[in-house]
Amino acid sequence: MTKSNGEDPRSGNRMERFQQGVRKRTLLAKKKVQSITKDDVKGYLVRNAFVLFTVTGVIVGIILGFCLRPYKMTYREVKYFSFPGELLMRMLQMLVLPLIVSSLVTGTAALDNKASGRMGMRAIVYYMCTTIIAVIIGIIIVVIIHPGKGTKENMHREGKIMKVTAADAFLDLIRNMFPPNLVEACFKQFKTNYDKRMFRVAIPPNETSVVASVINNVSEAMETLTRMKEEVIPVPGAVNGVNALGLVVFSISFGLVIGNMKEQGQPLRHFFDSLNEAIMRLVALIMWYAPLGIMFLIAGKIVEMEDMGVIGGQLAMYTVTVIIGLLIHALIVLPLLYFLVVRKNPWVFIGGLLQALITALGTSSSSATLPITFKCLEENNGVDKRITRFVLPVGATINMDGTALYEALAAIFIAQVNNFELNFGQIITISITATAASIGAAGIPQAGLVTMVIVLTSVGLPTEDITLIIAVDWFLDRLRTTTNVLGDSIGAGIIEHLSRNELKIRDAEMGNSVIEENEMKKPYQLISQENESVKPLDSETKM
Ligand code: ASP
Repeated sequence: MTKSNGEDPRSGNRMERFQQGVRKRTLLAKKKVQSITKDDVKGYLVRNAFVLFTVTGVIVGIILGFCLRPYKMTYREVKYFSFPGELLMRMLQMLVLPLIVSSLVTGTAALDNKASGRMGMRAIVYYMCTTIIAVIIGIIIVVIIHPGKGTKENMHREGKIMKVTAADAFLDLIRNMFPPNLVEACFKQFKTNYDKRMFRVAIPPNETSVVASVINNVSEAMETLTRMKEEVIPVPGAVNGVNALGLVVFSISFGLVIGNMKEQGQPLRHFFDSLNEAIMRLVALIMWYAPLGIMFLIAGKIVEMEDMGVIGGQLAMYTVTVIIGLLIHALIVLPLLYFLVVRKNPWVFIGGLLQALITALGTSSSSATLPITFKCLEENNGVDKRITRFVLPVGATINMDGTALYEALAAIFIAQVNNFELNFGQIITISITATAASIGAAGIPQAGLVTMVIVLTSVGLPTEDITLIIAVDWFLDRLRTTTNVLGDSIGAGIIEHLSRNELKIRDAEMGNSVIEENEMKKPYQLISQENESVKPLDSETKM
């Protein structure tokens, strides 16, 4: 009913209630601000010291970089200047190998086969879904914006590209899963190289019969009348770098076996638990150095980067398109997925990951960021260690949403600048190969650019056109690495929520041994004990 003056009484009430609410909140906020003591401020600063230092490092790095650009440093000077940043990269990479092995072994050994099987399935489903969503976003965005209008003739080119066939790249991926030598897997990956082989082809009999009739000795004629042919053949080769995929496969299998060995496997479990704990303590030390390292990494890159003048209109549009795609995936899709499954505020969760995200931005490497991602997830977001140890190393190795989105988008961009019309089948091929290429890409700077060759060859696009996008790749790589780390971390949060029942059951089973172990007062704790005694399950920050 409306009043005679036309006003709805309900809307008046609502307005009043709203005003009351605002007043109440303002009063509460005022009280809160008034009650803030020096200690509270100090406590807040200490709690968030890492993030504050890291953000400061980024800001100072950007300012420093732009201030130093006019001095036109030589390549040698830039390398000297970036040295503190290079040190951070080296320190983080130093920890990656023992961290992957120890966390995966303890992560799988702490669960029974059924629980780890289920958790593994959830992880795979999550990785596949998010990667496919990322690829679809990349394709839709590049088709809508169409950054590749015009020709490629006056576009800037940079660097050169090694060719590889899609089939060989795929086989290399599988070969790397099973390294024949574990020690070698710590510093080398298998990679197919190409060589040329000469071989003789016999001339067909009808041709030879004419010639042979002239020459008496038939066998001699057959010998001389052969043609030499050349063919390109795949030969075994190697590239430097940790074979993370091989170590992941080995560590998971090893952890499962140790878990099944019960009493007999206990010494090994203790060993890897202790190793993991020691590595995490080293990570805690390195985290203090990270802000300084990130500052120099960013400043060094800004000093080193080419003048933006080389970036033509198409490349600029392409950069904007990739940024939009990554932002949609990182700021809308992933948080929404987290909210829909976990029903908690995704921004609180993402807030806890800030340091890892900034490190990813600074290092361009999801594998080097892994130690910091562990710290952020376990300490800031309280994710169960059995989940992080199981899910994070696998995620950092095979789950790269940002890279998948980028590869599909870049391939279609290259098709556009070549005026190459892609049919639906070819777009599907690009989606599948972009997904495979993101799985195969290592978590190191610009690895996505190397695996892009597979996507391009699968639909017959010229691989040398990758040189068209190299100029901006260093920058886009940082953004896609950040998206990759975010995807892995949100995945850990979602899988923890979905696996809460298995974890509870396991906690109940472990109950007795936990008490026994605690009584023994070991210098380190088994992960299942820490979860039991230190952190209540599901202790993530509530909305
Ligand atoms: N740099 C990325 C990462 O480490 C991989 C890529 O080049 O896309 O996650």
